[in-house]
Amino acid sequence: MPWRVNKKSPKKLYYRLLSEFMLQQTQVKTVIPYFLKFTKKFKNLRSLSRSSEKKIIKLWEGLGYYSRAKNLLRTSRILVKHYNSILPKTVKDIKKLPGVGDYTANALLGLVYNKPTIAVDGNVKRVFSRLLNKKQDYINFDQLIEMNKKNLFKTKRNSDFVEAFMEFGALICKPKNPKCEICCLKKNCKYLNSYSKIKINKNKMIKYKNYNIFCYLNKRKQIALTKKNNLGFLNNFNLPEIQETKKRINISKWKFLKSYKNSISNKKLNINLYYKFSNKIPEKFKWHYIENKKEFIPTFTKKILNQVSTLF
Ligand code: SF4
Repeated sequence: MPWRVNKKSPKKLYYRLLSEFMLQQTQVKTVIPYFLKFTKKFKNLRSLSRSSEKKIIKLWEGLGYYSRAKNLLRTSRILVKHYNSILPKTVKDIKKLPGVGDYTANALLGLVYNKPTIAVDGNVKRVFSRLLNKKQDYINFDQLIEMNKKNLFKTKRNSDFVEAFMEFGALICKPKNPKCEICCLKKNCKYLNSYSKIKINKNKMIKYKNYNIFCYLNKRKQIALTKKNNLGFLNNFNLPEIQETKKRINISKWKFLKSYKNSISNKKLNINLYYKFSNKIPEKFKWHYIENKKEFIPTFTKKILNQVSTLF
């Protein structure tokens, strides 16, 4: 991972902060190119803090959940101005930074200061729950970690351990098809011991949700977009009308253009694209030129614009 630098590197805090913000609800393989783009443009926390929100959002384009980008900028400014570019030393103080919750605060404390603390994410919960063969709801993870601190943090390489633990959950003790046969914990794993055989799901089908997208177009090469869509993700960004296909909609007045698959962060979408030429558009929509390069348009919408541009 490009954010893993030498423990004494002055870039440690900047790299860890940037990656932890980007990794919130986003997979590692998606984050890596964005991390490299950011660190090429901003060499350290100070140069990031001096940037404008507009530039940060532009660079973040395509990564989704844009409030993270705004919070990252605000956090970098606070750290530079009030903490001399040094991370506060307690979870309580780290959590006061914008966009930093319990998980990120614990992760930063462990990774930056080598403190014996584990950020309890889905991976960590799953590993513990399987080792104990108990449902996650019945485990008090904070208490469990506190009680086992001496055993867990034996080596004093706490930051390596925190990272290894999370990665172990992502690569070995995976949600589906855990790799028990090569697992170093298999002798002590109650989950494995209670099942003589782990079911291997060979159908690695990714579940896509179906959506219809309806594009109003006019002869001036414009498309009607609205910021008021009812999808939780990509809130406040310009999009055409989007509906889940399970809703009953009369599509007889629309022409079908294309079906394609798209992903936004961890969401998989199967899209049916429809269009119609019309000068009348619903109240909440506004016309936008399809080829307007100056306006900020999220990647998700750009793909739609590319498709409809073939109609002109
Ligand atoms: S033996 Fe299997 S279930 Fe148990 S911790 Fe290892 S990978 Fe997870």
